[in-house]
Amino acid sequence: MNFDISDEQKLLLDEVDRACKELRPFEDEAYLAGKFNQHLAPIFKKAQLLGLPISRRYGAGQGADVLSYALALERIGQEGTGVRTFLSGHISLGQVTIQKWANDEQKDRYLAPATRGEKIMCFGLTEPTAGSDPASLRTTFEDKGSYFLLNGSKAWISNGSIADVAVVFAYPKGKREGMSSFIVERDFEGYSSQQQKHKLGMPTSDTGSIFLDNCRVPKENLMGPPGKGLSIAFSGLMSGRLSVAAGCLGVIEDCIDEAVSYARQRVQHGKQIGKHQLIQRHLGEMSTSLEAAKNVVYKAALLKQKSDSNPDNKDLRDYADVMIAKAKYFASNASFDAADRTVQIFGSSGYSFETRAPRHLVDTRVCRIYEGTDEIMVQKIAVSLLGQDYEAYR
Ligand SMILES: Cc1cc2nc3c(=O)[nH]c(=O)nc-3n(C[C@H](O)[C@H](O)[C@H](O)COP(=O)(O)OP(=O)(O)OC[C@H]3O[C@@H](n4cnc5c(N)ncnc54)[C@H](O)[C@@H]3O)c2cc1C
Repeated sequence: MNFDISDEQKLLLDEVDRACKELRPFEDEAYLAGKFNQHLAPIFKKAQLLGLPISRRYGAGQGADVLSYALALERIGQEGTGVRTFLSGHISLGQVTIQKWANDEQKDRYLAPATRGEKIMCFGLTEPTAGSDPASLRTTFEDKGSYFLLNGSKAWISNGSIADVAVVFAYPKGKREGMSSFIVERDFEGYSSQQQKHKLGMPTSDTGSIFLDNCRVPKENLMGPPGKGLSIAFSGLMSGRLSVAAGCLGVIEDCIDEAVSYARQRVQHGKQIGKHQLIQRHLGEMSTSLEAAKNVVYKAALLKQKSDSNPDNKDLRDYADVMIAKAKYFASNASFDAADRTVQIFGSSGYSFETRAPRHLVDTRVCRIYEGTDEIMVQKIAVSLLGQDYEAYR
């Protein structure tokens, strides 16, 4: 597989880099204030990044391929997991799922404003009692003739309290099969949301709950084939997991930059700490993990690209799905390890959120939980070796 960066990708990365540099002072300020970063959408909108992997047919869509989008998320990940999570919710989980499963009229209606940043998106699968086991969700829909009535709640949703549009999943009332997916607008009657407070990290991006209380959803907002909700959810998670893995590469890169610079400048026992071999050990470990993580993440991105272009090839899709699980599992653990090592190198300065490493430490921790926990990823990988009969979580 060829991971060489093309001239076109270099131009894109220059644009992403400019946007990231513009964002950083606002992100610093918001992080220390513990507040949502209001500049996220405007700055990424100005750089035309809010619809990067979406077809040029829709609004500000840029038609980037999967690897180019992953490279952009890698650079954005350097700015923090919260910054990248905003885009994962809005693009990878929201828009990419709509682009794959919605009909033409729905794509025209929702993708154009989303790519322009006029409508922010989210993906509501998780519920208070359904996380790793989404098939156990309790939200229901009822066919009322000219509309559907949705009831239930979604928890821990990225962009959940700021989103204008949510992709949500529900079972027919009274049934435990036939899950379907819907595009729901925050203005629909019976829809409300609430911000999740007291999070461990990511103070600058939004996480929220969504409440559907006799929510009236027009008939035309059923998305994809009825009864195919679980397949739609899993395809959204493939895109979301890859975005997590790509962002984690950026976290490791930022940690290495910070660690190298501090190891050159901090003097203890009469020399720069970078001259102490145990500090060098941390740098060697981080750099090696980064190379390994890049290879699995880029391979997963290219496989997803290939699978997206061959939607009827189930073997290819399964292969891409498992490679993405490996990429997410490996990169999220490597990023957490890199953040921990960098905090260690910084000593007590690494215990203050005024430096970047502890922010990465608390922020990137979520990458081992959301969009499939470490345990679920590892089991998925093991089942790809053992066979479906060994699926531990069914
Ligand atoms: C900041 C944040 C943002 C999020 N954003 C979104 C979003 O945008 N959209 C969305 O739908 N969800 C989102 N989530 C939810 C996230 O995907 C879930 O939290 C995750 O899937 C885990 O579910 P859970 O928290 O209910 O844990 P549980 O499923 O209750 O798991 C608890 C523990 O048990 C383990 N476990 C569960 N089942 C098994 C098993 N079969 N074998 C072994 N171990 C098992 C888990 O690995 C975990 O360690 C977000 C979560 C967070 C924290």
